[in-house]
Amino acid sequence: MQTNEPALPAELNRNVFLTTIDAIYNFGRARSMWPMAFGLACCAIEFMAMMASRFDLSRFGMEIIRASPRQADLMFVSGTVTKKMVPNIVRLYNQMAEPKYVLAVGACATSGGPFKEGYNVVSGIDKYIPVDVCVPGCPPTPEAILYGVMRVHDKVLGQSVRSALWYKKDQLNEPVPLPVLGPDLYNPKDREALLKLVEAAAEKG
Ligand code: SF4
Repeated sequence: MQTNEPALPAELNRNVFLTTIDAIYNFGRARSMWPMAFGLACCAIEFMAMMASRFDLSRFGMEIIRASPRQADLMFVSGTVTKKMVPNIVRLYNQMAEPKYVLAVGACATSGGPFKEGYNVVSGIDKYIPVDVCVPGCPPTPEAILYGVMRVHDKVLGQSVRSALWYKKDQLNEPVPLPVLGPDLYNPKDREALLKLVEAAAEKG
């Protein structure tokens, strides 16, 4: 559908119908996101505070927290991400339906935080799944997490049905491969396997 409005730029004039659809559609999406309950450590307490009446996430139309990834479109990774937890986070991410978004809450989820380079902690969940917004802090305040939510909304509002991957026939997002992590995933009682790993690491220097 085209308009004859001369004041509109040519590109907008050509796509005014889709631009209007984008605005309405994205407004609805941004104001009705369904977050997934996902608490890994202390940052989850701030997440809960953000949900409660004082900060009140429901003001943004997001009061329904889903327990199933298949019913959620926003994952809050709030807390310390251990190596044993990463494959499960990736699996949950893959089970979420498109369009989906990830918000990393706190220093641990964004970079490993105080446990960075610890033997059992990864240096940020963004190494394993695409993260849309990172909220720094140890822990971030509920206001900071709300600020991160608003930045996710900005991202949603800036997307277009013309370029969104999930509307393209042959460009459905591939599942993120499950990571194979380091020796911490080995059975600590398996002494022989551990010795081989230690020797291999020593040879590498
Ligand atoms: S960033 Fe700080 S408050 Fe958050 S999970 Fe890590 S240690 Fe806990």
